[in-house]
Amino acid sequence: MENKKSEGQKLFDKLSYKNENVWSKISEKDRDKVFDFCEGYKKFLDHAKTEREFAHEAEKLARKNGFIALDEIIKSGKKLTPGMKVYQINRKKSMILSVIGQKPLTEGVHIVGAHIDSPRIDLKQNPLYEDSGMVLLKTHYYGGIKKYQWVTIPLALHGVIIKENGESIDFKLGEEEDDTVFTITDLLPHLAADQMQKKMSDGITGEGLNLLFGSIPYDDEKVKEKVKLNILNILHKKYGIKEADFVSAELEIVPSFKAKDVGLDRSLVGAYGQDDRVCSYAALQAILGLDKTQNTAVCYLPDKEEIGSVGNTGAQSRFFENFLADLLVLENENYNDLLLRKTLSNSKMLSADVNAAVDPNFEGVQDKRNACYLGKGLVIQKYTGARGKVGASDANAEFIGELRRLFNEEEILWQTSELGKVDQGGGGTIAQYLANLGIEVIDCGVAVLSMHSPFEVTSKVDIYVSYKAYQAFYKKN
Ligand code: MN
Ligand code: MN
Repeated sequence: MENKKSEGQKLFDKLSYKNENVWSKISEKDRDKVFDFCEGYKKFLDHAKTEREFAHEAEKLARKNGFIALDEIIKSGKKLTPGMKVYQINRKKSMILSVIGQKPLTEGVHIVGAHIDSPRIDLKQNPLYEDSGMVLLKTHYYGGIKKYQWVTIPLALHGVIIKENGESIDFKLGEEEDDTVFTITDLLPHLAADQMQKKMSDGITGEGLNLLFGSIPYDDEKVKEKVKLNILNILHKKYGIKEADFVSAELEIVPSFKAKDVGLDRSLVGAYGQDDRVCSYAALQAILGLDKTQNTAVCYLPDKEEIGSVGNTGAQSRFFENFLADLLVLENENYNDLLLRKTLSNSKMLSADVNAAVDPNFEGVQDKRNACYLGKGLVIQKYTGARGKVGASDANAEFIGELRRLFNEEEILWQTSELGKVDQGGGGTIAQYLANLGIEVIDCGVAVLSMHSPFEVTSKVDIYVSYKAYQAFYKKN
């Protein structure tokens, strides 16, 4: 009997740790659900390429699903009741959604937090200049990018321009089928002898990431910068703006291509900005579908993670605490600071962020026994940090034990991971800032290839599993 397992093999199966490919474990019906879910995800990605767009799209979905703005609830004088759905947007760039649970807030809330900003290239405040018969825009990149990946691809420009009179102009160009696009040029190989000898980090410089913006001169011999004037004229006619309006603008350069299926079996999603919209979308969908929970569920979608969670829209801001304080006041008129602190220290959180999947093209940067793989489910990461866990948020073993039990009961397949070999590098997430408040936090999310590139790759089955995991966590007792 060649199929019969020996006693030792059975014992090995029983005692050893292994993780499995989720595709092989799920039913035909669940496969359909995976593909359906990712159709919605891809569409959402195409409409939410910036943090402002994410917050805007998420608000539309929230309102459709019965969520009410916190300010409206406060104005109405209503009390918090279980099942109530609340949201708040902070400066159009970060957002919190909540479904009120049966238990009082002080017994703790269940949070899934995922950032909605992504690495990109921003315009400088005085970007426009003419050189060699062309107009270009000066830029300063945002977050950790490999600069050489951002040249010679079609790019779009998204953002807002605030005019001197306070009027806000939405700008989005390069997304529609017949829109013009922009690009950053690179040197032809024929003349790249010097460039090709440089380190990859220096081959394309930050100051050299100038966006090609136009090339027709204005028809007036007496004007010195004719192409620049022509561009300014177009901008003025089309958007009513002048050059100085760039000073009070936030314009972000992102890849203009849309999210696509990848692979002959269509098992993967390729798109810009999946770090961390793959987790923030899954967390958002999970809370949109909730109606009854024991603990209050909170979906926290901060901005600025890619540059250190700083500023008044990042995870280090007071936005999260202020939101909870507002809820506490709505629940109990006799608010005091201790109630907020108690709520925080009784709360639990999944810091939902992407992790680097093992890439067969780049052997050797990861410890394969402690790395994550595409298609093997939710990635649980006990600690982040780099070189001796410095800067890590290190989850408590007791909390991990609790989550293992939950995910195993709910048949949610998971894997454990850390980011890279011990001395290779590392990274951080929003986890530490929420942990500092007393919240029990662990990092967990989706494995990704080509992280921080213009075209990141994830596995559809992992996306769906993370959505199921976040839902189970919200509902957990
Ligand atoms: Mn991230
Ligand atoms: Mn990132």
